[in-house]
Amino acid sequence: MFSKEWFFYVFGRWVVISGIAGAIVQYLFTDTLGLKTIPAFLLNQFCLACVFWYVDRLIFKKHFSENLLSFFHFPRIKTTYGLKEQFDKVSQEYEDLKFKITQSPDKPQAWLNEFVDLEHTVEMMERLLRERNIDIDREYDRVAKENLKKGYYFPRAKEKKSTGRKPSRFLETLEKEILLCDGAMGTYLRSKGFGADVCLEALNLEKPGVVKGIHAEYIEAGARIIETNTFEANRFKLEKYGLAGKVRQINIMGARIAKEASAGRVFVAGSVGNLGRLISPYGEVSLVDAHDVFSEQIRSLAEGGADIILLETMTSFLEAKEVVLVCKEISDLPIICQLTFTDEGVTLYGDRLADCFYELEKLGADVVGLNCSLGPRMMIKLLKSLPPHFKGKISVQPNADLPRYKDGSSEYSIDPQYFMQCAQDIKDLGVNIIGGCCGTTPAHIREMAKVVVGPPKNREQ
Ligand SMILES: [Zn+2]
Repeated sequence: MFSKEWFFYVFGRWVVISGIAGAIVQYLFTDTLGLKTIPAFLLNQFCLACVFWYVDRLIFKKHFSENLLSFFHFPRIKTTYGLKEQFDKVSQEYEDLKFKITQSPDKPQAWLNEFVDLEHTVEMMERLLRERNIDIDREYDRVAKENLKKGYYFPRAKEKKSTGRKPSRFLETLEKEILLCDGAMGTYLRSKGFGADVCLEALNLEKPGVVKGIHAEYIEAGARIIETNTFEANRFKLEKYGLAGKVRQINIMGARIAKEASAGRVFVAGSVGNLGRLISPYGEVSLVDAHDVFSEQIRSLAEGGADIILLETMTSFLEAKEVVLVCKEISDLPIICQLTFTDEGVTLYGDRLADCFYELEKLGADVVGLNCSLGPRMMIKLLKSLPPHFKGKISVQPNADLPRYKDGSSEYSIDPQYFMQCAQDIKDLGVNIIGGCCGTTPAHIREMAKVVVGPPKNREQ
């Protein structure tokens, strides 16, 4: 839990800042006031502790409102790991797992965390090897064959691609055309007067007409995919409004309202947002619980008749991977999986954009992409860093720039005209789906509809 990086981060910072502050306090209290060295030092440390406590609380609360302590489970410093460091890490995680297993061999739940840690670290090692163009698959096959000879295990039947999957009109269309998705639901609803204390997803039950009206506005503006009003309709998030028991109803209704509005004219994407809590090892939520919460929502969206499952604003690769696997388990609906990245092209937990795209595509996401947090220009920059040989389909849904807070509500600065120009550039990058996230409105979609038409561009050109 308290990794080497964690100590570097916490104590490294402490040492540097306390060194500087120590000198100041030494000067002020010891010299000016004539205080003895040790009381002055203790006073200095006490002042520092207060400052750190306050700053940390301020910063961490903003990002980790759920659980302050969960922050300390993961190193925040950014280091580029070499193979050697990663090897040491794998060995360390392996030892941790071994130790945990020997302590309670019959209780897998007790060592699940250590197992996930190890799996995650091995995965990072794999990426480092791939970056160095090492053919892991061949080596993997060779070792597997050897182990098989020794009778260590029986291999699973080789997975066949696209077995028995129903042909999907959506996927067929995507081969031929670039598709325009709708704009924001959440921020648009808020702009229509639903305050910050209103559970927007509950409007599916309370004011279905309003939600349907927004879908209609987006369809009229030219969207060919509309997203259900279910972004935050998972058990964890609805709990805050005392609506944990209504997950199924809210999602089924969300899908039905969109279906009605669509009347077969556009595709209905069941929107699934992030959990709003961190999955172990970053936080307290176990993979098992994450699985259950996601599957409850996705099952309901499928039941309500969604044509596609659109996973969006996923905060880490781990979360995205889990939710894609849940989708595959539940239905054979097409999957779009979008994560949120910082302007450095990594998730909050350091997963790199290209790594996420490649891995999620391999896991079975039909379309991978990015949404929220960034405006269109920054997304274009990030997409340009994606290797041209990436063969998967891509979706992009930028915000209308970063929000500015004015009189208690958020304002977005990018106007529809500018958004259209950006859409043209995004299209030129060979993207398959373009839409809008926070702050975008039917006006943005109407402008984008002018350019988001025709066959997708070839990415390798
Ligand atoms: Zn957004």
